[in-house]
Amino acid sequence: MSKKITLLKGDIATLKVDAVVNAANNMLAGGGGVDGAIHKAGGPLIAKYCSEIRRETGGCKTGEAVLTLGGNLPSKYIIHTVGPVWKGGKFREEELLKNCYRNSLMLAKEHHMKSIAFPNISTGVYGYPKEAAAEIAIEEVSNFLKNNKSLENVIFICFDRENFDIYNKILKRVK
Ligand code: ADP
Repeated sequence: MSKKITLLKGDIATLKVDAVVNAANNMLAGGGGVDGAIHKAGGPLIAKYCSEIRRETGGCKTGEAVLTLGGNLPSKYIIHTVGPVWKGGKFREEELLKNCYRNSLMLAKEHHMKSIAFPNISTGVYGYPKEAAAEIAIEEVSNFLKNNKSLENVIFICFDRENFDIYNKILKRVK
């Protein structure tokens, strides 16, 4: 199981996988952080794909995930998911963050993807405590991999050293 999980440190927009996951916002409007990096590297087509989805469905609800092509990114697809804003923990934040991972993985499966990379959803401006978010991410991915053999490689890519160290510690424990 855990052989399929890889931990990296760096910029998700440089990865070549079937899909990179974007920590987007409800309007799929682009923004800072990982969202900004993906839009910048992917080029203006990403905003165009996102505006088409916004026009058709109004955007993306928190915890849900939508798929676009990757534009100029090395990766073929982008899975845009919207993490919860941390409001102290009593506003279904945990459930919503779990949903982000699950729904992203389901989309990857539906589209027969073999490799997918996740950033540390919600742990930037949305303020989710990093350790708790990492536990959720690793648990959801591990559970999914147990029951779904088609996905061959799930990458956690951390931009900041703090998240990288947290993931490293948890992955050593669960491996
Ligand atoms: P959110 O709004 O979901 O908190 P952010 O983009 O602010 O999203 O932050 C989510 C995580 O993405 C943070 O841990 C941040 O360090 C990380 N991050 C920022 N830029 C990149 C990037 N280019 N590649 C991967 N991760 C990134």
